[in-house]
Amino acid sequence: MCYAIPGKILEIKDNNITVDYFGEKRKARNEFFALSLGDYIYAQGGFVVQKVSEAEALSILETWKELFFKLQEIDEKLASKKPTDLYESANALRQKYHGNSCCIHGIIEFSNYCTSSCLYCGLRPDNKKLTRYRMSINEILAATDYAVNKLNFKALVFQSGEDAWYSEERLLEIVNKIREKSPCLITLSIGERPFATYEKLYDAGARSALLRFETSNPKIYSQVKPGHSLESRIDLIKRLRQKGYIIMSGFILGLPGQTKEDVLNDIKLTHSLGAEMFSFGPFIPHPETPLAAHPRPALESVLNTIAEARMSVPQARILVTTALETLDKDNALRLGLMAGANSLMINVTPEKYRRLYEIYPDRAGIDTPPEKRINSILQLLQSIGRAPTDLGA
Ligand code: SAH
Repeated sequence: MCYAIPGKILEIKDNNITVDYFGEKRKARNEFFALSLGDYIYAQGGFVVQKVSEAEALSILETWKELFFKLQEIDEKLASKKPTDLYESANALRQKYHGNSCCIHGIIEFSNYCTSSCLYCGLRPDNKKLTRYRMSINEILAATDYAVNKLNFKALVFQSGEDAWYSEERLLEIVNKIREKSPCLITLSIGERPFATYEKLYDAGARSALLRFETSNPKIYSQVKPGHSLESRIDLIKRLRQKGYIIMSGFILGLPGQTKEDVLNDIKLTHSLGAEMFSFGPFIPHPETPLAAHPRPALESVLNTIAEARMSVPQARILVTTALETLDKDNALRLGLMAGANSLMINVTPEKYRRLYEIYPDRAGIDTPPEKRINSILQLLQSIGRAPTDLGA
């Protein structure tokens, strides 16, 4: 199982390196490792995240050699026919800008405690039916070790409700220890924290932040996130980007009162915030929330939004979210990837907690062990010619 191809260093200029992947040259930033020309590395999101020995790199490259070009060929063939609809046009554009690379992140949901009363979310404190959990620092580190060192993930998202038990000090300990034992691209998805905390976490080695603005419409925002301000969330996202974080952001599709125009503004705002990864998905009602009776949007409207986002921001990475997969567990992932998306996430939260991170019920993939899910996803990716890799900037 392999979500990245090792690259060989051709050039080093200060922190910037040029890497070769089967003849393709890519750039990456190196901030963590002592590297020399000819070394092999893994890059994710434009950052060097691991150094690999030559022997290991060569054996992985050997297994990739033929497959790499075969997959490219399948993808090119699928994407090069004359587009007959919006999805095919978006897919052709995805292929033109990104080739066949598909970025895979693992996600560890480490706490379902939350102080925020978002009307759409099952983690809201008023939901007394939910069994709450909080992973200890050691549990988080063990889950990370397994994901990085056994399952081979090179990029992990750490997500939780807004839970102050994870103080700045505890979060720093977690990031520092992950960097020591399980190097990977660390994405934080921990909600609104003081910027100073995010600064320290960056300096400790976190390089990416997943923070959706949820909706660009301030009126809807104040209705669905009482007591929160859209302006301050957007301000935080901007400051994180200035600090150097890779931004993953986006919105929920199908919130009450949301119009077509709102969704176009959502796409524009995601772009103007400099998000490298677009993360948006359908609203899915949770029975224990005030929006229990509000309907989920149709699969087609989510696919249309993916295609529209791809057409307006061709260089973006666009995620197929778990919420989209939940709308059609058998087909949505493939349909999303064929409508312009090129990224996905695999849940690697320990089994005993996975079902409890219930932002909405019955999430796709939560009953399947990660090993099994990885295999079926790799099979799907091969069938549509995508390489599960992130070749960096
Ligand atoms: N506390 C973090 C993580 C929140 S949960 C934060 O504030 O960023 C991650 C995402 O799940 C949210 O940003 C929201 O967009 C999404 N979400 C929550 N409830 C949902 C629902 N019922 N349907 C679809 N998406 C939902």
